[in-house]
Amino acid sequence: MTWPPLREELRGLAPYGAPQLSLEQAPVQLNVNENPYPPSAACVADIARAAGEAAAGLNRYPDREFVELRAALAAYLGQDGGRDLTPAHVWAANGSNEVMLQLLQAFGGPGRVALSFAPTYSMYPEYARDTLTEWVVGHREEDFTLDLDHARDLVLERRPSVVLLPSPNNPTGTALPPEAVGLLCEAAGDGLVVVDEAYGEFRRAGTPSALELLPDHHNLVVTRTMSKAFALAGARLGYLAADPAICDAIRVVRLPYHLSAVTQATALSALRHTDELLAQVDELRAERDRTVAWLREQGLTVADSDANFALFGTFDDRHAVWQALVDRGVLIRETGPSGWLRVSMGTPAEMGQFRTALTEVMKEMS
Ligand SMILES: *Cc1c(COP(=O)(O)O)cnc(C)c1O
Repeated sequence: MTWPPLREELRGLAPYGAPQLSLEQAPVQLNVNENPYPPSAACVADIARAAGEAAAGLNRYPDREFVELRAALAAYLGQDGGRDLTPAHVWAANGSNEVMLQLLQAFGGPGRVALSFAPTYSMYPEYARDTLTEWVVGHREEDFTLDLDHARDLVLERRPSVVLLPSPNNPTGTALPPEAVGLLCEAAGDGLVVVDEAYGEFRRAGTPSALELLPDHHNLVVTRTMSKAFALAGARLGYLAADPAICDAIRVVRLPYHLSAVTQATALSALRHTDELLAQVDELRAERDRTVAWLREQGLTVADSDANFALFGTFDDRHAVWQALVDRGVLIRETGPSGWLRVSMGTPAEMGQFRTALTEVMKEMS
């Protein structure tokens, strides 16, 4: 056997992750859909105080059921379309990535299928691989919306135990209409339909959250994160809302005390500053709409976006465009179908630098 004795199917694979360049190499970082606005001074002070209090008790394990945090998350979701959610309807982990891995650990596994529709979030096949779940992927329309007949047929044919549907989708920004969620929940039977709303707070006016559909479908799971709209990517806190039986089942596979006392205290403090943290979301949504319009004025094709990023193209050599932008200090993401690039929304100044750099690069390459 070769050393180290890694699982056969993992040999030679690279760990997931976008290139992380230093601020010196790329002062304008628009590549991982972070919120460009740091938490306010008041929020930082509150987090520091709460983390300090938690530190005084770090000789003890944290609350394994994190009931206070689940109650605060349930209350927040109640402001954004959730109805009658209690702590028992909510589960959390270290980022929604961990929440989704736990879902696959509990509901996937050998002999079971997880399904999504490409292009979509590139972590999904990794959760499947890591839990020995078969990965099945359908396709999206040219404009990245779902072909509902194809989607339903594939669900009925492959009977997935978990369907992963980001809304808005990453990297395209495409939101799912509620009819699509309802239809797929029906088709999935007792399989779970996970609507990954990592970017839910950025959705355009008139786009409802799948949270509103929870009372109608026992198999619907809606995941959220504090990493994007809440400007808390560094804290690692993701969560879900679902039927309490689903939360209960996840408890079987979670590691003991997976959510540290410091993480719980940090998230609780941040939730006390919800209005402040979300204040920049409207600005970022406006920046998104301006950026999409500007890119289209440049003659580029841009996917409609309900998220804090835009997917645009197409370029014969997207890597050359990406590199030329990096050379000008602007880091975006080379992702999605070939020829496309994705830019996250930054501050107005950062977006100005992005526009200047892209204009130069396109002129140079034409
Ligand atoms: C960023 C993102 C997440 C959130 O990841 P965290 O682990 O919560 O930071 C989840 N789903 C998608 C599609 C994302 O792009």
